[in-house]
Amino acid sequence: MGLIAKVATVVLAISLMTFVAFFGRLPALRRTPIAWMYRAIWVHIPNAVLALDQALTGGRIIASAGAFGHSVWYGRHPTVLIFYILLLAVGEILYLPGAWPRLSRFHQVAGAIAIILPYVFLYLAAYSDPGVITAATHTHYMSLYPYDFTLFHPGQECRTCKILKPPRSKHCAVCKRCVARLDHHCVFINNCVGYGNQHWFLLLLLSTAVLTTYGGVLGLRMISENAQTRSSLFSLWKHRQQTWHHYFILLSYGIQKDAGVGSVTLLAIMTSPLVWGLLGYHIYLIYCGTTINESMKWQDWQAEMTDGFAFRRRLPVQRNRNPQFEANWTRWPVEPAQILVRTEDGELPNDMALPGEGSWERVWHLRDMENIYDIGFWDNLVDIFVPNHSFRAEPQADLEGGKRPKHKKTKA
Ligand SMILES: [Zn+2]
Ligand SMILES: [Zn+2]
Repeated sequence: MGLIAKVATVVLAISLMTFVAFFGRLPALRRTPIAWMYRAIWVHIPNAVLALDQALTGGRIIASAGAFGHSVWYGRHPTVLIFYILLLAVGEILYLPGAWPRLSRFHQVAGAIAIILPYVFLYLAAYSDPGVITAATHTHYMSLYPYDFTLFHPGQECRTCKILKPPRSKHCAVCKRCVARLDHHCVFINNCVGYGNQHWFLLLLLSTAVLTTYGGVLGLRMISENAQTRSSLFSLWKHRQQTWHHYFILLSYGIQKDAGVGSVTLLAIMTSPLVWGLLGYHIYLIYCGTTINESMKWQDWQAEMTDGFAFRRRLPVQRNRNPQFEANWTRWPVEPAQILVRTEDGELPNDMALPGEGSWERVWHLRDMENIYDIGFWDNLVDIFVPNHSFRAEPQADLEGGKRPKHKKTKA
């Protein structure tokens, strides 16, 4: 069991690190052990090392390593991208020599496609423009979405880029640039995931999920065949007559007979649910018509609402737009119907300059707000996979100024 134990430990460690790196910062997992582990690995342990160094050497070791460490954790660098490519490549180098001759022609062709696609989508996700907002692209990105007067208000400027923030855009602190519909900065692709490349990112997740599942299932079949050369009674679903002891001896024989196929199969089987989980999370966000960035903003709003500091009122249908701060026309089919603001003291807003009409009303729940960026699952998908698709007719024909949202509820 020596080799098996070592392989299992390495596989477990890699899976755990990948899992924590993947999921640790997801807002949905904020109060779970995964987020604690992420903080332990990326915040508390580094802080403890820092404190220890401070106590022992007055901080000299860290000071010399500091610039390097800072650029590794906060800079834009391809370390994790390279780790990911190595994980794929080394896995394939270990797996293929033993597995390839045993595959049917069909699985050889399908397998070759499954192997190539993640590299293709990785390249496209990493090297295409995520939607960087420059003077040249600013007008275009202003015309994609209207301001929702909830998460995004007109007239806000990026302090670093000194440009008016288009609706749904965010400044990426790692890349130091504003990106249209920024979802998050992804260390696996060493690029932001935004309006321009989110479809490539999703296809990267899908192709990686398919690859790990496919490789894992084929590998399990080969492990099972290996074990059957020892005992024809073996099957992956343990027979009732067979003891666990006997089952594990045969299984570990099956893994060790080709350690390359065996270890990569274990890794694939363990990481596959993580990748599917991550893909599922992103599809859920698309279903909600939101992004990771926006779902965090919604969570902040929920906290304000719980405290009773959030207020809303109607926005007129025929609203006068300030052409200095808002695009005259957007291709989006929904216009905001209300404005949401917070006050410092929990009293009704008294700023006369705030847009809207009628009296202010305290909001207690997110479900009482609408998300104008959610236009139904299918159209949300179209918005991601068909860049610049226009969801309504050209300005001349559009006399109503957009229709009111169909969806009353915020799913996020
Ligand atoms: Zn910026
Ligand atoms: Zn970035």
